[in-house]
Amino acid sequence: MMTITVVTAGERETLDVASSFAGSLVRGDVVALTGDLGAGKTVFARGVARSFGVNEDVTSPTFTLIHEYPCSPPLYHMDMYRMESIDEIRNIGVEDYLYGDGVCLVEWAEKLGELYPAEAIHVHIKHLGGDRREITIERSEKP
Ligand code: ADP
Ligand code: MG
Repeated sequence: MMTITVVTAGERETLDVASSFAGSLVRGDVVALTGDLGAGKTVFARGVARSFGVNEDVTSPTFTLIHEYPCSPPLYHMDMYRMESIDEIRNIGVEDYLYGDGVCLVEWAEKLGELYPAEAIHVHIKHLGGDRREITIERSEKP
């Protein structure tokens, strides 16, 4: 397991951290985002999307569940916040995205339960007070 921890002092720094992190992403990667409401999961997703060349607005897909950004590889941005069971998540077809050939960004990924991919890159964002956030990136080493 490789773990990186960084503290950011504001939204812009989180965008920058996410953009440089995005350079390491390849087709099939799943980025599992966790952290409280307002921690910065969507800001982080925005930074990743920016690095992928996405020009449109990147907002929480809380109601639409999945935003697909037309880049290469395609970026699928999901939010599990409103999901109430694994069956509901399964019925939406989330597994097709998780095991597809795009890059997935999943907010509230802890809700995936047994669907949480073993190879997911886990990004946890923690409030440190004010505009400070601690971002921990954990990834298992690929064989
Ligand atoms: P989440 O998706 O985790 O619920 P958002 O990304 O939507 O959270 O919101 C994070 C909020 O916190 C934004 O309003 C953002 O401007 C603010 N913010 C303040 N400091 C930071 C920081 N260091 N990193 C990210 N967001 C920050
Ligand atoms: Mg969000």
